[in-house]
Amino acid sequence: MDINPVNILKKYFGYSTFREGQENIINSILNGKDTFAIMPTGGGKSICYQVPALAMDGITIVISPLISLMKDQVDTLKSSGVNAAFINSTLSSKEVNQVIFSAISGHCKLLYVAPERLEQDYFKNTVKSLNISMVAIDEAHCVSQWGHDFRVSYKRIAPFIESLDKRPVVAAFTATATPKVKNDIIELLSLNSPNTFITGFDRKNLFFSVIRNENKLDFILRYLSKNAGDSGVIYAATRKEVDALYEKLLRNGYSVGRYHAGLSDDERSKMQDDFLYDDIKIMIATNAFGMGIDKSNVRFVIHHNMPKNMESYYQEAGRAGRDGENSECILLFGGQDIHIQKFLIQQSIPSYERQRIELQKLNAMVDYCRTTSCLRKFILNYFGEEYEKDNCANCSNCTNDSELVDITLEAQKILSCVYRMNQNYGVTLISEVLKGSKNQRIIRSNFENLSTYGIMSEYKLKDITDLINGLIADQYLAMTESEYPVIKLTEKSYSVLKGSEKVMRKIIIVKEKTLSADKDLFEKLKALRRELASMEHVPPYIIFSDAVLVEMCKYYPTTKDNMLKLKGIGEIKYDKYGEKFQAVITDYVEENNIVSQDIIITNSSSTGSTKTKTHLITLDLYKKGESLKSIAKERNLNINTIQEHLIRCAEEGLAINLDNFIPDEYADLIYTNIKKLGTAKLKPIKEALPPDVDYMAIKAAICKYKLKNTAS
Ligand code: ADP
Ligand code: MG
Ligand code: ZN
Repeated sequence: MDINPVNILKKYFGYSTFREGQENIINSILNGKDTFAIMPTGGGKSICYQVPALAMDGITIVISPLISLMKDQVDTLKSSGVNAAFINSTLSSKEVNQVIFSAISGHCKLLYVAPERLEQDYFKNTVKSLNISMVAIDEAHCVSQWGHDFRVSYKRIAPFIESLDKRPVVAAFTATATPKVKNDIIELLSLNSPNTFITGFDRKNLFFSVIRNENKLDFILRYLSKNAGDSGVIYAATRKEVDALYEKLLRNGYSVGRYHAGLSDDERSKMQDDFLYDDIKIMIATNAFGMGIDKSNVRFVIHHNMPKNMESYYQEAGRAGRDGENSECILLFGGQDIHIQKFLIQQSIPSYERQRIELQKLNAMVDYCRTTSCLRKFILNYFGEEYEKDNCANCSNCTNDSELVDITLEAQKILSCVYRMNQNYGVTLISEVLKGSKNQRIIRSNFENLSTYGIMSEYKLKDITDLINGLIADQYLAMTESEYPVIKLTEKSYSVLKGSEKVMRKIIIVKEKTLSADKDLFEKLKALRRELASMEHVPPYIIFSDAVLVEMCKYYPTTKDNMLKLKGIGEIKYDKYGEKFQAVITDYVEENNIVSQDIIITNSSSTGSTKTKTHLITLDLYKKGESLKSIAKERNLNINTIQEHLIRCAEEGLAINLDNFIPDEYADLIYTNIKKLGTAKLKPIKEALPPDVDYMAIKAAICKYKLKNTAS
């Protein structure tokens, strides 16, 4: 068995290089040192214990807090040819015995268990006889009461390790970096002077944006209309909001699910599975959803409400783009959000001291929503990391994808209405006065006589409310923290009323995400992936991640060699699925006449020289009298590529007789059809001709046809 980490990475996971930090962490483990790694969500922690598990003799026990998480990881490992298993409450005792038997027999390399298992004598006794090389603790912050997912059973881990005859190397992983949690982990897991690694928290493929003064629902609908095919999560603050949004999007025809603590266990796990299996695209959820979701192709995470602190935000948002493909994290910030969060903190935390801490954290969160400088820099600074640049070019404050609309006049009307109502009322009533509504309360309070009554009658009530919320978000107005909040003027209000400050509304332009690859082929490959996934009863991303499919669409690999050069395809995966995908690509490449240069992936190990004109090598062999088939075989290229090489030679005026490829008896028919159907696509022409006319004949004829037409 090859125990070189890079080779293991390539063979089983299909990646040729480690990400930041991974290699050092792995080496530390392989050197027998206890290891503690802090990496952001999606940073690639699993590989840090899976690779050493494969490199070492014996078995690795992985402690993981959630059933869904274990299943996901074991599915992924199995599909990559690694013998892994889990033990948790979903298994019958017979199944548990089978797993334990396979562990004792030495077949199983990674055994995932829930921490509660460590309390059971039966488990403890059987495990004693195993050759345990490592205990890996995933989501290690669960051991700390200061973390947000405290699990009592995590405290059983240290005594369990203690009870083993031979102490294995212990490795702990988390994304939580606060000093308190960090110290707890080291202490409560009894790590033995561990090597500690903290990798950078930047997630380069994530685009961050804050939408401050737009109607939230309008924005979401606008966003989804451009990104309908993508998988995404929308977080809302309460069950009620989740339900409302769910109904709304369902009625608008979107493929949505929902998840919150008010649903039955069955409903929740059904929704979660549907989402993992891509049967529903969009999950609307409270923050109860997410831990244990390692779905790699989440393309966007929208926060319908501001979360309570940056830690929660970054963790939830970080569930986007685990596969490294470009993804978006959008936070919709409204004036009400601060109020809601403050209320929740005051309601749920009895200790005054802890309330104070939470309120401080909330303030930082609000600052994030209001800052006009780089959002990425803000996040990284918050987590104690320097960010060199001032402009990351990948957040809503660093890019110019927005339109500025001058709303000074509207703002002045609203502010003066607040003034005339003695700064004593809430958003709804102020909006109604501006709109000129006639309801009991307005008549009773004599608001009809105010000079601002009805001065915005041409607006919809909802639009006035949105404008007011936007002004609160931008601090042109303030909202009190009372049970029935009222709206007050701020310092900024007066400069607007005096006319010395303009108010601009920033409207983000939603663009369709540009896939860095061929969209049509991508859809075909996704369809194949779905089919294979449903046959194997695993989520599609476990077969191949989106990132792998995108690579296929960029390079059009049609040979095993080229397939294996792609990021994310190891030998085992290739043997299982490679040829099926290759076949789809081959058909596609032929039908669409895709040029050969795109197909060849220059081998990175042989620098420079691969630039020698590959079509000329083909020409040489052809001139020696070899058939196209044998050239393809010899060069390990697809036949289509070889054909393209020869066409290119002809286009460049090199001596090659295209007529050799065009059967005399069909020549006229071929040209007639080319004239009729155009040269953009080959498939329609092929279908219009007798089956024994091959693609090369058509290509050759098109080439001649084009040459003739440009010459005259
Ligand atoms: P974490 O547990 O840190 O949140 P995961 O272990 O789930 O992150 O990994 C996130 C994604 O990154 C997975 O899809 C994984 O396949 C991918 N990944 C991990 N290491 C690499 C690597 N060296 N190269 C490319 N992708 C990687
Ligand atoms: Mg993880
Ligand atoms: Zn930025």
